[in-house]
Amino acid sequence: MPLSRRAHRSPSRPAARTARLALALLPWALAACAGAGPRHAGADLYHGFALVDPEAERVVDEAYLLVRDGRIVELGHGAPPADVAPAQRHDMRGTYALPGLFDTHAHITSGPHKVELHDGAPRIGIESVDAITRHHARTALAFGVTTVRNPGGDPVANARYDARIAAGEWIGPEAVHAGAVIQPPPFGGSAFAYPRSEAEWDAEAARQAGLGMRYFKLYTDLSREELAAGVRAARRHGLTPIAHLNAVGWTEAARLGIAGLEHALPTSPDLLEPEAKATYEAGLGPDNRYIHRWFELADFDGPRIREMLRVLAEREVEVSTTLVVNELVANVDDLDRVYPPQDRAYAHPETMDAALTFLQAGRMNEEDHRRARAALPKALELVRRLHAAGIPILIGTDGNGGGPPLARELDLHVQAGIPAWEVLRLATSGAAARLGIGERTGRLAAGMEADIVFLRANPAEDVRRVREVAAVVSDGRMHRFEDLVAPERQEAP
Ligand SMILES: [Zn+2]
Repeated sequence: MPLSRRAHRSPSRPAARTARLALALLPWALAACAGAGPRHAGADLYHGFALVDPEAERVVDEAYLLVRDGRIVELGHGAPPADVAPAQRHDMRGTYALPGLFDTHAHITSGPHKVELHDGAPRIGIESVDAITRHHARTALAFGVTTVRNPGGDPVANARYDARIAAGEWIGPEAVHAGAVIQPPPFGGSAFAYPRSEAEWDAEAARQAGLGMRYFKLYTDLSREELAAGVRAARRHGLTPIAHLNAVGWTEAARLGIAGLEHALPTSPDLLEPEAKATYEAGLGPDNRYIHRWFELADFDGPRIREMLRVLAEREVEVSTTLVVNELVANVDDLDRVYPPQDRAYAHPETMDAALTFLQAGRMNEEDHRRARAALPKALELVRRLHAAGIPILIGTDGNGGGPPLARELDLHVQAGIPAWEVLRLATSGAAARLGIGERTGRLAAGMEADIVFLRANPAEDVRRVREVAAVVSDGRMHRFEDLVAPERQEAP
């Protein structure tokens, strides 16, 4: 776990506090001469911005904060205190400060999808490429993402990511990871694993835990028995079992002990009422039609979906909803509508090309796309019901971290009927709490890590504006948006 890089705390300075009382009226320079030193010596001062606080649902004008050793040491509004001697002053007038954003489904270490021949058979793999990962990390941070939950990737590459970020060799968000995704062939290579016995399950979970992974990702083609074995192996090694499922239904998975579900795609036949289930199963093929067909056939007021909502809520199973995935699949024929070329340009060209090829392999015709678009409101309705049932929602993109799709993801949640303040909470303090790091990040308060995004517009008025990043603070350093994206975009064709 990358906790250690954040663990450094400066010793508290009670002597300096006492001195502050005595010398409060003296200019800091005089105080320094007197040998007591001003408060927060060496801290950076950020001032003049509006503080956006999703927890309190308020915007505080003319705010300031002091950051030292990567932590917020003081926060206030009005004129900055006179008795501090900042190492640097950052005039942030005209910006809105929000806690650093979370992308809870970000494959930050994934390279491009590739189909290769391996021992004479085609193998689908997603190998990690350091130059591409470095690009993902900078881009995520440029768009204000200071933490990602990586739902699967080569655990060796993930551990290397943590080490490079901790050492300051790479600039990017903190990551909590799942390692190799558990899925049978044709998926393979270092980003996938497929244990075939209890001993192999145990060895794989032990390996991933040993590399610092936090989650154990179980995938679409596993049987009920395999899922159960995966949950047991994960729990034995302190990993949280999460799943992207197709065959096994969400209700069943929750009962087996799955803690988190990926994507607003509960596309199992088991969640449909008998007649709809038969229709659905009869039309299943090697294409992406199953998604809109499932939504067309699902009865949200029927006993099966109601039971699912009850069981997920009871067990506090979290869902990383990634509504941009539903939207992308429905609009593969006219991608520019939902993901214009100027937005795609922020992604790494190799991962973007591979992702588009992968999407186009869904074999949908014009009629399918029309139906898929018509079914989208039902995906939003599902998310509204998940939220209304008290099921924890995680905001994520299924991309490589942040970028324009994250703003779109937030907006889709507003369109689903979740209030903007609540959506901003889900993307900051709510995510931090779900990831188990809410005591040190996700909120702007004294003592918290200085994970801050300064926006050019108020996101509480329109969540889409979270993409208008002026600067981001991570690990105590401020980066301008342009400085993080410019060199990478010059490399792109
Ligand atoms: Zn994914």
